[in-house]
Amino acid sequence: MVMSEWDQLKLHLQEWVEEYRGTSAAGKVAEYIPELSKAEQDRLGIHLLDSRGHSISSGDAQAGFTMQSISKVFTLILALMDHGEAAVFSKVGMEPTGDHFNSIMKLELSQPGIPFNPLINAGAIVVSSKIKGENAKEKSARILSFFRELAGNPGLDYDEPVYRSESETGHLNRSMAYFLLDKGTLGCGVEEVLDIYFRQCSIKVCCEDLARMALVLAFDGTDPLSGKTLIPRRYVQIAKTFMVTCGMYNGSGEFAIGVGLPAKSGVSGGILTLVPGRYGIGVVGPALNPKGNSIAGVQLIERLSRTFDWSLF
Ligand code: GLU
Repeated sequence: MVMSEWDQLKLHLQEWVEEYRGTSAAGKVAEYIPELSKAEQDRLGIHLLDSRGHSISSGDAQAGFTMQSISKVFTLILALMDHGEAAVFSKVGMEPTGDHFNSIMKLELSQPGIPFNPLINAGAIVVSSKIKGENAKEKSARILSFFRELAGNPGLDYDEPVYRSESETGHLNRSMAYFLLDKGTLGCGVEEVLDIYFRQCSIKVCCEDLARMALVLAFDGTDPLSGKTLIPRRYVQIAKTFMVTCGMYNGSGEFAIGVGLPAKSGVSGGILTLVPGRYGIGVVGPALNPKGNSIAGVQLIERLSRTFDWSLF
């Protein structure tokens, strides 16, 4: 009898996690946000969730970590829900950069002050400044409550030490925000937008939270577990397209070829990915490869995608 994919996953996932965990030794935990440097180098965890709520968890899936850049996908969606496509894309572009996520270089090229896309830091800062709300506190509260709803977890909250650590050391992001302010791209002041941005990056999750958020994207905006439509389908389509073209920093091309799934990574080592119409997947592995993606996480996801032929291409 041929074993189902799910049964194969149940049988082998733990073994694959242990196989790739060792590759973490060749990676580097992010240090530029001092608090992130405390993460365990060889941590590797994964959580897979299907539309019936069945899940498989392996390795260090219970460990908590901050969303960092993964948050950018969902604040983009919220900004689109707040203002629509035309308004959002008048202030941020749709093209990959090929540069590092926090590069400032291209901000002055092409259209000065219009970041290339919403998943690089400059673009995400612009997007965060557009979230509706009277002040930073209200905007952050809307982001957090949207994330809680998508994750089906009312307990999601900020990791305060990570928030403070980035707020105290995020000079490069601060400089980008000043540039954007000068060019008239920001929807609010510099300290206000940075507070919103650093807070969204510091939202603490585990692999299961990411898997649940990913599942909503895998089902075009309707949470299959609650039956509720949380995001209009068009905005999920936009988000998934950015995830394919820019979700894995300047390693997005390599990831599209090796894995072929929409994904977004963060400097804490988290990766959110999905198999459309089937699974939401959350991964964590804090040791990063030179492109800034979890070194073991990428290899583990590639193994799964190759084994089960998940590539969309
Ligand atoms: N908070 C991080 C920063 O702005 C996010 C970067 C990332 O995860 O790529 O530097």
